[in-house]
Amino acid sequence: MIHGLSPYNYDFAVAAIPLQLLLMLFYGIRRNLPVRRNRLFLVVMLSNLTMTVFDLVSCEMNEVWQSFPLWMMYLVNVLYFAPFIVRGWALAGYTAEVCQVPKVFLHRPRAGKLCWVFVSLPALVTLALILLSPWTGVIFTFAADGYHNNAAIYPIIYFTTYFYISVSLLFVLIRWRALTPQIAVSTLGFNLFLLIGIIFRELFFHVLVTSYVSIVTILVIYLSSQNPDFYRDRVTRLFNRDAFEEIGLDLLQKKTPFYCVLITIHNYGTARSIYGFHQLNSSLRMVGAWLIRSFPSHYAFYFDNGNYLLLHQGEVNGQWETILDELEERFAHPWKAHGADVSLSLSTLVLPYALSPRDVTELHDLLRYSFGQSYVENQKGNHLITEQMLSALKRQKIVEAALEKALEERRILAYYQPIFSTAENRVVGAEALARLIDPEIGSIPPDEFIHVAERSGEIMELGRQIFERVCTFIQSASLRERGIEFINVNLSPAQCMNAQLTAEFSALAQKYQVPMNMIDFEITESTADDAQELQTQLIRLQKGGAELSIDDFGTGTSNLTRLTKLPIHVVKLDMSIAWAHFNGETTILPDLVRMFKNAGLKVVVEGVETLEMKERLTEMGCDYLQGYYFSAPIPAEDFEKRFVPDENR
Ligand code: C2E
Ligand code: CA
Ligand code: CA
Repeated sequence: MIHGLSPYNYDFAVAAIPLQLLLMLFYGIRRNLPVRRNRLFLVVMLSNLTMTVFDLVSCEMNEVWQSFPLWMMYLVNVLYFAPFIVRGWALAGYTAEVCQVPKVFLHRPRAGKLCWVFVSLPALVTLALILLSPWTGVIFTFAADGYHNNAAIYPIIYFTTYFYISVSLLFVLIRWRALTPQIAVSTLGFNLFLLIGIIFRELFFHVLVTSYVSIVTILVIYLSSQNPDFYRDRVTRLFNRDAFEEIGLDLLQKKTPFYCVLITIHNYGTARSIYGFHQLNSSLRMVGAWLIRSFPSHYAFYFDNGNYLLLHQGEVNGQWETILDELEERFAHPWKAHGADVSLSLSTLVLPYALSPRDVTELHDLLRYSFGQSYVENQKGNHLITEQMLSALKRQKIVEAALEKALEERRILAYYQPIFSTAENRVVGAEALARLIDPEIGSIPPDEFIHVAERSGEIMELGRQIFERVCTFIQSASLRERGIEFINVNLSPAQCMNAQLTAEFSALAQKYQVPMNMIDFEITESTADDAQELQTQLIRLQKGGAELSIDDFGTGTSNLTRLTKLPIHVVKLDMSIAWAHFNGETTILPDLVRMFKNAGLKVVVEGVETLEMKERLTEMGCDYLQGYYFSAPIPAEDFEKRFVPDENR
């Protein structure tokens, strides 16, 4: 036990000091975000350190108070009491920040301020009493026999401390559901622990235990939410997405203007497959370091997948063009990682404060969208986020909501577009095309909602519902008996990747007693990455009895070698190829048709709009034709009326 002049036990307090210094060192050597919560954490640590040191110093000096000038005696005692109060106060503020209490008041800033003033009142009053004590003796005083507490008022110190712990606990409980389990448990935990510590100190007055209790509290905070590593990206060592949320929220709350420069490595995917992860990561780290060096007044973030962001406080003026020029210039040169030249190409977009949403979640959404859009926008010569992009994003969200609702209410429809057989000179099949008609916003084209469904993962459910509708139609209209040989159903690459697909579809077909060979799945060629997986999946589907076609041949990158390896029997030539032929732009079409026919495949041409196209394509040897000349996609009843003959029934 450490002995001093006083009868107090110093063990806990002395042990707390090096711990506190160490934590402050670990915390302080990194650049932290200038957010309220970090500042409060710093205040907590500083006041804890001051309080601990002056607790020891004042206890010792109080024993020999005559040896020092009276003002010094008052000073060391004030330097113990004041941080004691500040620590509790700051800790409650910190808890409020971690629990995102300010979010509750986002749209009622006045109520928020009022609340904070009310919460601060006990601390302010107690601090005033402490600071006035040298003159009034209201909390403590030095009489002829030395140091004395003022028994009547002194308990206010403990009252204030209990008050802040209770307020903190209240914050935690109010926001409990919104917190991650880790934050919820740790904030609740350290506040309860603090409570026990203070009670203990009151019971065993001679053991200086409070500083120890607070250092444990601070340690819990550090480990659960303040560790700067939580806010760093591991690859680039820049701030990460969570850090952006923190600073974004803080700036939006304070209504501080800021602008963002979005930087996307748009050849990220290619670079990864060419250079490999290790090399690419090294160059991404170099980019990060270069950004920090080149734009020191900006905060640099890395949002994964080659997306960087620079944030600057203040309005964006002319300087964004200089920044983009500087970026352009540097990226014109390769990054030398492990001796290799890694070429990264970038696209950039600037988000000025005027266009920034005032809600951090919406801001995040806009950034995610803009990262994806930056290449296209740059191609158009755009380097600033535009109103059009904002409305496109808004529209996307509306579509998302409409799609979700339609899937829930099973309102997605299938329209049917006839497929004409040149050999039989009649309609022998149809392609099922998804239709979404929203009661409020009307018809949404599949090009819009399919894309949304693919990204949200809802494409699986959409596929199921369409397939079920097709089965119902085939069964209820006895299509097979009436001469319709097949119905084509589109499959997105995302659907093809799902291993459960075949099992699910087979079960549905069985339920409606539809033979699987009446279904022809149309598949677009996807990226080379998943060729193997696609093949496995297609073979599975084929074994389930379905037929398979390649859709949109001629768009994107069609790999002929791979095509011949897929278990397909039909190739659908994209309408752009047919149109190019009839416009006189290319002469490749007849050779293409011949080539596929020689390979034993059937050929469908889409986008047949005129009689001339129909006749010439028939002469060319195409097996099936589809297009507006025959009919646009139409509801099931209309298709039945117009294209399904009655006589065979
Ligand atoms: P797709 O599979 O290439 O479908 C052909 C598209 O071309 C359809 O557009 C159709 O209405 C349109 N079309 C047909 N004939 C003509 C013509 O003569 N001239 C012109 N200009 N257009 C014609 P739609 O229905 O808007 O579908 C767009 C795309 O949405 C489809 O392209 C397909 O990729 C996707 N899609 C539609 N339904 C589904 C579905 O149920 N599942 C999945 N995964 N994708 C679907
Ligand atoms: Ca199709
Ligand atoms: Ca197509």
